[in-house]
Amino acid sequence: MTRVAAPVMSTLAVVLLLGACTPAKGPDASPTGPDRRSSPSPGGGDTAGAPGSVAPRSELPQSDTPLTPLSPAPSVPTEERTRFDAAAAMADVRLLAGEIGPRLATGPAYRRAGRVVERRFEELGYRVRQETFDVPAGDSWGVPVEAGQSFNVVAEPAGFDPSEPHVVLGAHLDTVAVAPGAEDNASGVAVLLELARLAVAQEPGMPVVFIAFGAEEPRGSGDDLHHFGSQHHVRQLGGPRRDALAAMVSLDRVGVGRVVPVCTGPLSPPRVQRELLRAAARVDVPAQACENTASDHWSFEKAGFAVARLGSTSYAEYHSPGDLPRVVDGAQLARTGRLAWAWLSGPDA
Ligand SMILES: [Zn+2]
Repeated sequence: MTRVAAPVMSTLAVVLLLGACTPAKGPDASPTGPDRRSSPSPGGGDTAGAPGSVAPRSELPQSDTPLTPLSPAPSVPTEERTRFDAAAAMADVRLLAGEIGPRLATGPAYRRAGRVVERRFEELGYRVRQETFDVPAGDSWGVPVEAGQSFNVVAEPAGFDPSEPHVVLGAHLDTVAVAPGAEDNASGVAVLLELARLAVAQEPGMPVVFIAFGAEEPRGSGDDLHHFGSQHHVRQLGGPRRDALAAMVSLDRVGVGRVVPVCTGPLSPPRVQRELLRAAARVDVPAQACENTASDHWSFEKAGFAVARLGSTSYAEYHSPGDLPRVVDGAQLARTGRLAWAWLSGPDA
């Protein structure tokens, strides 16, 4: 608890109140999804493309695919544009876990998944970069694995000023060696991508940096042998950016069950957890408070940031070859997404 100073928190409250445009509506998940032609690029530049996400996800994007400029469709109401699209999220779960499969953080499938996620953020107009780091050899849930490199995919909104108050939303993209990782954690990445789309369709109460983390999964026991990507990210956070980071929320295993776990660890002030629980109540999403240190929020929490984790409901196929897309329930992805979006769009009452 060194760096999250009280002034940052009060600034957060002020910005949340001032910055929120419209309260979240929390509409139900639509199986077909809204017309996304209305999603503008945040920078209004030439990066717009990809209403994109409506295109079939079964086709991996090619780097030379031309981007079609979007024409704004102001007639589509904001509440429709900012409706969480459960079908789109499920398509991402199928792409990552069904098509690409197990994504060991240092392997080729992980790199392929990383390129897919990067491309999606870019198509939405984000500034995207990779953070590369070393991962030691070890044991991936019973499978000996070699040392290698992995990377985080960091997406910032166009025009983002890291010295201004902002939040980080993260989801780990890697899996243990044998698991396709539909629930753990294609579910979290799918919700992350959908929230990134919503944050372009309507400005959230505070800028959001979206991060797909590499190498969250353990390579042995002990607190140093997991969460490699988020630990690396926190270590290289510099002064102004560090002071301006108001909250971090990890989306990890968010597609099983009917209640959304809203966890925090033992060190974080409960502010973010309380805000998320209030947001859940505003949009009628069943949620339950819990304590948990088993995801990337823990790296931030140990460094003194205010954090929370959404997800963690236990399920039989955890870290096994059976963690396939059928394990994931689109309705639960939508509950998690609606809750997170209600929090991001504020105001926090
Ligand atoms: Zn996980």
